[in-house]
Amino acid sequence: MYHYVRDLQHSRFPAIKGVSVERFCRQLDYIQARYTPIAAEDLIRALSPAKKKLPANPILLTFDDGYSDHFTNVFPLLDARGIQGCFFPPAQSVLEHKVLDVNKIQFILAAVSDVGSLVDRVFSSLSEFCTKYPLKTKEAYFHAIPEQHRYDSRNVTVLKRLLQRELPEPVRAEIVRRLFAEHVTTDESSFSCELYMSVDQIACLRRHGMHIGSHGNTHAWLDRLSPDAQVIEVDQSLEFLQTLGVGRDEWTMCYPYGGVNDSLLHVLQTRHCQLGFTVEPRIADLDVDDRLTLPRIDTNDLPS
Ligand SMILES: [Zn+2]
Repeated sequence: MYHYVRDLQHSRFPAIKGVSVERFCRQLDYIQARYTPIAAEDLIRALSPAKKKLPANPILLTFDDGYSDHFTNVFPLLDARGIQGCFFPPAQSVLEHKVLDVNKIQFILAAVSDVGSLVDRVFSSLSEFCTKYPLKTKEAYFHAIPEQHRYDSRNVTVLKRLLQRELPEPVRAEIVRRLFAEHVTTDESSFSCELYMSVDQIACLRRHGMHIGSHGNTHAWLDRLSPDAQVIEVDQSLEFLQTLGVGRDEWTMCYPYGGVNDSLLHVLQTRHCQLGFTVEPRIADLDVDDRLTLPRIDTNDLPS
């Protein structure tokens, strides 16, 4: 599972969490020396009743969120080595030039070194929303947020969780909007064009044999939506895939934040989704794992 792959050192936001292009190359060397990269279509056929055999030590590379990094940095490297990548762009960020809140939060964190002051800012601004929305106390929020995330400090975990899910949606959207305008940019549209691939770039990836799958429409936590809202998210992302020529019999889903539940799985089954990728960090066992809830190893888990 990859996200940002960029020349971090020479980028405007060197603190953004990602893999450098150099490290990505080393990882490709490592991967090719030990594993056999396969295509999503190979995996779909291996899990079909015909059970097509996979090579020994198969590996599938996935790239979330539709970043322009994937077109500029990843695609030429994969193409030169004859490796297929699976790319999962959220439809709305590509079509409407909006920066996803999850990305705004990452760039706010990359632009501000004192995360504790950001957490304080969030809590102090809650008073102006408390008459309109049911808000908890600061202590209750802290209590609701689990202690450890694999890669983040406590302050980063608290800030991300508050702004990604604990606060009511309109409140967190407004706070994120303000912090992004203050610390990153007021020109969201230009920033979006710099951050995400365009439709033409994604179409180009597909023409070169790359796999394009769904990452929802708005990059919502799909497991927190009502069944009706889940249908809308899935179908809007499917419409987007259709404009790229992705057939209904070959589509795959990568759950934003790994969020999946039974009602979402039902929606995917009725639409013949072929593969579903979670963020559970382990190697998939195709004899045991369900094709719609496949785990993935994070790039940071590779030794190289
Ligand atoms: Zn994502």
